[in-house]
Amino acid sequence: MPNDQSASASPARVCILYTGGTIGMRKTPDGYLPAPGYLAAQMTVLNEFNNPALPEYEIIEFEPLLDSSNMRPDDWLKIAGCIQEQYAHYDGFVVVHGTDTMAYSASALAFLLEGLGKPVILTGSQIPLCEVRNDAVENLVTALLIAGHYPVPEVCLYFGGKLLRGCRSVKVNASGLSAFDSPNYPPLGTAGIDLVMNWSAITPPPGEGTALHIAENCRPMVAVLKLFPGIAPWMVESFLR
Ligand code: ASP
Repeated sequence: MPNDQSASASPARVCILYTGGTIGMRKTPDGYLPAPGYLAAQMTVLNEFNNPALPEYEIIEFEPLLDSSNMRPDDWLKIAGCIQEQYAHYDGFVVVHGTDTMAYSASALAFLLEGLGKPVILTGSQIPLCEVRNDAVENLVTALLIAGHYPVPEVCLYFGGKLLRGCRSVKVNASGLSAFDSPNYPPLGTAGIDLVMNWSAITPPPGEGTALHIAENCRPMVAVLKLFPGIAPWMVESFLR
């Protein structure tokens, strides 16, 4: 059991928004591919996902299931809209997502979901749940426990034992199981023998009565210009054009 005094009492209800990614992919002759219903079907038969220590959960599967390298700002709005629609019915949300752009989606959701008072935890895996050796079970089980039992009012990313602030997270490893980090902010929690929350690093909850609001004025016409020593004015000019 978590040793943290701030864990809230059961029963809790968590909504899983399944957007796609490796975690729910099926092995095919053409490689791993997302297959509708496949993640839910596996969770139904695996003991880990039928343990009474978990919060109650329901899965909303997106259509189509996406490889996250194909995600666009419209998809972030779709996830945010779904959270807003379901907000009153659940204590927390787990967004199941591919790892390639998970940190981007976590950042976007952190800025889209204004007045958030419940946990929104993005997770996925490097190895699909259908493989005997995988990181999917641990990532998904721990994300569910945090979303259901810990009142973290933030968009977070849970992966490889670390709960990170969503808008500070970055993918740091394409092949290891500790694939994410937040180099400029401490983890919001760690999952070792115990689940330990770093409450002093976690945003305080919004004031009572604050409603969730989606900041929909998100414009896709944004690009990143990295400044480096020796960058020439013509490079900046042509980028701005
Ligand atoms: N390409 C996949 C995706 O980002 C890989 C993954 O899930 O990690 O959806």
